[in-house]
Amino acid sequence: MYPAPFEYYAPKSVGEALSLLSQNADAKILAGGHSLLPLMKLRLAQPAALIDIGKITDLYGISDMGNTISLGALTTHHDVEHSGVLRRECPLLPEVASHIGDRQVRNRGTLGGSLAHADPAADYPAAMLALGAHIEVQGTGGKRSISADDLFTGLLQTSLNVNELIVSVRVPKTNAKGQSVAYAKFPHPASRYAIAGVAVWVKLENDQVSDVRVGVTGAADHAQRAKKTEDALKGKALNNDAIAAAAKLAADGLKTLGDVYASADYRAHLVNTLTAQALSAAQARAHGM
Ligand SMILES: Cc1cc2nc3c(=O)[nH]c(=O)nc-3n(C[C@H](O)[C@H](O)[C@H](O)COP(=O)(O)OP(=O)(O)OC[C@H]3O[C@@H](n4cnc5c(N)ncnc54)[C@H](O)[C@@H]3O)c2cc1C
Repeated sequence: MYPAPFEYYAPKSVGEALSLLSQNADAKILAGGHSLLPLMKLRLAQPAALIDIGKITDLYGISDMGNTISLGALTTHHDVEHSGVLRRECPLLPEVASHIGDRQVRNRGTLGGSLAHADPAADYPAAMLALGAHIEVQGTGGKRSISADDLFTGLLQTSLNVNELIVSVRVPKTNAKGQSVAYAKFPHPASRYAIAGVAVWVKLENDQVSDVRVGVTGAADHAQRAKKTEDALKGKALNNDAIAAAAKLAADGLKTLGDVYASADYRAHLVNTLTAQALSAAQARAHGM
C-alpha cells in the first residue's frame, strides 16, 4: 500500500517546525513514523504535508536535572530501555520500554510520538500516569507543561492544541528508599500492543503506603488511573491481603472496550489481575525480594 502524495519538510529547529506547521494546513509531524506511516499507507490518514522533526537535535537526549529526568521527545524506546540514568533513577520507564513491540519498533518509535498518538493500547501512557510525569510542549504561543493526568482525553485524543509539539517529558526520580515501581502487561501475541497493562508507583513510610499511583492502559479508550485502588491502599501495609482487596477495584468505573481480541468483561478481569501482579512485584522489590 502506498500513501497519498504529500509535501515533505525537514526543519532543523523547533521554531522552524512550528512555523511550517502554522503555514501548512493539514500537516502532520513525523517522528519515528511507526504509527503515522501505517495509517497513511492504509489511507486512514492523508496529511497534505509531513514535517519530519528527526533533524532537530534539541529534541534528543536524556538529562539528569536533579530531582527529575528530562527525556527529549525523539528519545527512542530502545534508548529509554538501555539508559543507565533511567535504570538507576527511574527504572519503570526502561521496564515499560522493553515491553514495546519488537526490536525494530523500539529502534524507530519515539516517546513523544507515542504520547502524541495516544493509542489506547500503548504502554508509555500507563507509566506516565503512575510516575506523575509532565509533558513539555511548545506552540507558536509559547511553552507549557501538561500533567500526564490531563494529557490523555479519549481514543487517539490528547489535550495538545493543534500545531503544538511535544518537546520533552519530565519524570521524577523514584530511586529513594521506600519507593517502588512495576509494570504488568498482557500483550497482543503478534503486535505486542497492550490488551491491558498496569504500571504502579508506590511510596512506603513506616511500612505503610503513604502514596501510590496506578496507571492502566489497553483496557479503555484512553489510559486512566485506578483511583479506587489507590485510595484503598493508602495508609495500609503493602501486604498480600491489602493488594488483593485493592486490586479488585482497579476496573471499577473503567469503560472497558471489547473487540476481537478480548471482551470488555475479560479486559476488566485482566486489569484487576495485572494490578495485583504489578503491586505484588512492587511489594517484592520494596522489600528487596
Ligand atoms: C508492529 C508494531 C508494534 C507496535 N507495538 C507497540 C507496543 O507493544 N506498545 C506500544 O506502546 N507501541 C507499539 N507500537 C507503536 C510504536 O511504539 C510507535 O512508534 C509509537 O506509538 C509512535 O511513535 P513514533 O515516533 O513512531 O510516532 P509517529 O508515527 O511518527 O507519529 C505518531 C503521531 O504522533 C505525532 N507526533 C509525533 N511526534 C510528535 C511530537 N513530538 N509532538 C507532537 N506530535 C507528534 C505525529 O504527527 C503522529 O500523529 C507498535 C508499532 C508497530 C508498527
